Amino acid sequence: MIELPHQIAAKLRKSRNTLIACHVAPDGDCLGSALALRLALTRLKVRAQVGSSDGVPEPFLELPGAGDVLTTPPATPADVAVAIECSTPDRAGAFAQALLDAGTVINIDHHVSNAGYGHIVYWDTTAAAVGEQVMKVIQALRVSIDRDLAQCLLTAVVTDTGSFRYPNTGARTLRLAAELVEAGASVPEIVERVYETRSAGALRLQGMALAALRQSPDGRIAWTTVTAEMLAASGAVAEETTGLVGILRQIRGVQVALLFEVTPQGVRVGIRSRDGARSNVIAEAFGGGGHQGAAGFTGAGQLDHVIATTLAEAEKELRQAAHTPAPRRRR
Ligand code: 5GP
Ligand code: MN
Repeated sequence: MIELPHQIAAKLRKSRNTLIACHVAPDGDCLGSALALRLALTRLKVRAQVGSSDGVPEPFLELPGAGDVLTTPPATPADVAVAIECSTPDRAGAFAQALLDAGTVINIDHHVSNAGYGHIVYWDTTAAAVGEQVMKVIQALRVSIDRDLAQCLLTAVVTDTGSFRYPNTGARTLRLAAELVEAGASVPEIVERVYETRSAGALRLQGMALAALRQSPDGRIAWTTVTAEMLAASGAVAEETTGLVGILRQIRGVQVALLFEVTPQGVRVGIRSRDGARSNVIAEAFGGGGHQGAAGFTGAGQLDHVIATTLAEAEKELRQAAHTPAPRRRR
């Protein structure tokens, strides 16, 4: 059997019009990977466009090709569509239908939860970042990794490993990062933009949210809420809550951290966990998904209801985690 990256490369080479779709609220892994794949295809004179329903968040605006990202689907259907980290097609938001309308759908993902849709499914939960998988596709395309490509792929790796701090950081990840640095990419440049540059409003919001943090009586669950009023009072925008839920997980003894964000689309729930508790299991109970250490979903109903049902599910997962030997922690 031909290896998946080669199968994908063969399809992409023959494509005349490729759509690369990101998931809603795209992160550095998803965007970096999508932009890298587009650069590689452009190098081969294969027409490719990146679609991201929610555009490009501030820290990634400087990535090569970020300015050309579409937020609404192109008029002509793609012959090949590549879904990057979309567990189901609807995770592609405005691009869900465009994905399904393509002649060939390629599903590339490293999350634990993926529905396995598409003509080619390249699903590898051992990959630290989907960027690692996309790197293999680019190698199969025989495109050499120049500085631009390397910077996109390193952004994927740096962001999904929390700058090499999460348990998904292995020797393989560091070797890949080293290769990308040798090709001209810069870790400090990415870290500066992603982790060391924020608006004053984002910090004010963080202060407000942390001041309101709650913990379960046994201290194993921590949570807080971000409301529209808090956004308005702090001057922050919704996408600036990134990183907040991870701070809650820092509390000694916390195994599950939850952030409840009231949005016009419903209550967005961000989940982070450790020490055997599985974020993805909690998220999947409500139709969401993710990794063991990081997952999310959009809850239906009022904030209080979403908080109560999520806490109950987290308690249930903690009871289960207590009965199973702690697996290797993954993001
Ligand atoms: P975040 O809290 O940073 O938005 O998401 C954490 C992880 O869970 C990411 O890998 C993200 O792709 C995944 N995730 C977040 N929300 C959802 C969701 O509603 N559905 C699925 N399938 N995955 C999600
Ligand atoms: Mn990822």
